Amino acid sequence: MEKKNIDWANLGFGYVKTDKRFVSNYKDGKWDDGALVSDATIAISECAGVLQYSQACFEGMKAYTTEDGHIVTFRPDLNAQRMEDSCKRLEMPAFPKESFVDAVVKTIEANSEWVPPYGSGATLYIRPFMFASGPVIGVKPADEYQFRVFATPVGPYFKGGVKPLTLRVSDFDRAAPNGTGHIKAGLNYAMSLHAIVTAHEEGFDENMYLDAATRTKVEETGGANFLFVTKDNKVVTPKSNTILPSITRRSLMTVAKDYLGLEIEERTVYLDEVKDFAECGLCGTAAVISPVGKIVDHGKEICFPSGMSDMGPITKKLRDTLTGIQMGHIEAPKGWLKIIK
Ligand SMILES: *Cc1c(COP(=O)(O)O)cnc(C)c1O
Repeated sequence: MEKKNIDWANLGFGYVKTDKRFVSNYKDGKWDDGALVSDATIAISECAGVLQYSQACFEGMKAYTTEDGHIVTFRPDLNAQRMEDSCKRLEMPAFPKESFVDAVVKTIEANSEWVPPYGSGATLYIRPFMFASGPVIGVKPADEYQFRVFATPVGPYFKGGVKPLTLRVSDFDRAAPNGTGHIKAGLNYAMSLHAIVTAHEEGFDENMYLDAATRTKVEETGGANFLFVTKDNKVVTPKSNTILPSITRRSLMTVAKDYLGLEIEERTVYLDEVKDFAECGLCGTAAVISPVGKIVDHGKEICFPSGMSDMGPITKKLRDTLTGIQMGHIEAPKGWLKIIK
């Protein structure tokens, strides 16, 4: 197979139009069969539900080439389930889970020349999403929806080496109790933009959000879950029903327990105890884990012993093991790798 002529190692994280995308429309109470199309643009009513009341949700996943030359994607069944959960909460019609996986596979197959070669560090980022395309002016769910999957190549996450992040404890809240923090809705991101822009202006990489009700418990950042490592090598992740259930984080917890033999805990994590952890990382599809070196709580600095120049040892082991599973160096748990071709 020919690959596109791209400098994979120097690709950034931005939209690049690829050849094909999958499109399916919901009308008169049902989804059509859907098809791959070349047109990367969308024409909808000016009064579409997504434009007026933000009725939309999305997923994010990757396709990449393993060492033995297969194109694979990682746990797409979990993205399918999570999108169904998002749809239910937003009064959108669920896209059948098998059809979701099928649409993702078709999109990757149709853009296989865009899947970066093994060893390049780059991946093909896959973005399934759904939005209300039908017009609404009174506040209610729309009658028509579109489900779409596109792919865009993205470069290696840690270009020029790993740089531990500096976070601030945010004064803005990400998710309300009993709100939408647990679903992957665009609206959660719209309201996080002011928080991230001001964080960057003040020299921070990310916001650490606390629970909105008491502001004592650690939740997550704008787009990644936390993993902490205790001084006796226990892997701890916050438990809360206002956190987005990251597939990377859930996979890393399994890796910690079953591959590395570490004790794991999913529990309430208080801001007060963060200073006692040995390592801290952010988990998500894009980076797998990014190490956090420092968290600043209104002038008070929490510096992790892992420091500002490298990943902590357990964070590194977790990352190497999960990326090893993804690249086919280490045997994957059953069902984790979906082979496309
Ligand atoms: C997508 C997302 C994550 C990461 O989830 P993955 O499934 O690991 O990519 C974490 N937090 C938020 C708020 C997200 O939207």
